[in-house]
Amino acid sequence: AERALAIARSSGIDWAMADESEDEAALYQDLRHALMENLLHVHFQPVIELKQGRLVGVEALARWDCPRRGSIRPDRFITLAEQTGLAGELTRWSVNAALREHARLRALDPDLRCSINLSSKAFPQAGLVEQILDAVALWDTPPASVVLEVTETAMMENPELSARVLQRLDHAGLRIAIDDFGKGYSSLSYLKHFPVRELKIDQSFVRDAGSDPRSARLVSSMVELAHHLGMEAVAEGIEAEGSATLLREMGCDRAQGYHLGRPMPTESLLDLLRKTA
Ligand code: C2E
Ligand code: MG
Ligand code: MG
Ligand code: MG
Repeated sequence: AERALAIARSSGIDWAMADESEDEAALYQDLRHALMENLLHVHFQPVIELKQGRLVGVEALARWDCPRRGSIRPDRFITLAEQTGLAGELTRWSVNAALREHARLRALDPDLRCSINLSSKAFPQAGLVEQILDAVALWDTPPASVVLEVTETAMMENPELSARVLQRLDHAGLRIAIDDFGKGYSSLSYLKHFPVRELKIDQSFVRDAGSDPRSARLVSSMVELAHHLGMEAVAEGIEAEGSATLLREMGCDRAQGYHLGRPMPTESLLDLLRKTA
């Protein structure tokens, strides 16, 4: 981004564009600093088991409140990290911060699972598996309580490498989930070869399932697909009680969404666990 800025300046490209690249260059510096100095934080969204309505897990979601810029959406800073070579730092931060905070939650519920998002740029990183397993050992986390979320697109960018990485993580006892299932444009062939334990049905299907019969049938087919393959089905984006009921009737195992619980700081989740214990 700095080079782009220099080029923009020397070639007299219009000011609006130069301002934008200057902004991106500065944002990159701030993000790098924030990752190195551990200035990001984790929020946790509850994952609910639908049959009994119990809290069984949390998904770790990165938050960045930049002192100068205010809070910046994850979609923005994660994309920036991926484009500027900071994906490795982001992965290291995400895994460590999530497992550190998860350890505090496990003190109240030892069985609570923790889902962590892996960037599509994580797979080519040297030492990725060791890095994750080191963090699991450091925080004394039961491997089976760690869920690593990857998207179809991320896996298909480099299927052989992804398969090898995921096999090793699976052998170590961690669980692999497909995030945003149904949204990526890719074949289902990876489901044959990859050690996937969960399908997370993308919120775009779940949101429309209450009003659109076609979406509802798609969702129930995805639940069946998961079960036929011996995987668990997780619905994302439950925003109303109606969707929770519908998904429960379809036999969906677990769900997340604003109606069931918003992403929240560790302290709030600790309060929630104390109340439900
Ligand atoms: P995701 O993994 O699919 O996470 C779900 C996103 O949907 C989260 O957005 C969550 O706040 C939002 N969400 C949850 N329930 C609802 C709902 O009922 N309605 C709606 N409209 N949205 C809901 P968020 O936190 O902005 O994160 C966006 C994406 O950024 C995540 O999508 C994930 O792909 C990525 N991300 C977040 N944290 C990390 C991280 O630490 N590392 C990496 N690599 N990616 C991350
Ligand atoms: Mg996710
Ligand atoms: Mg998702
Ligand atoms: Mg996503």
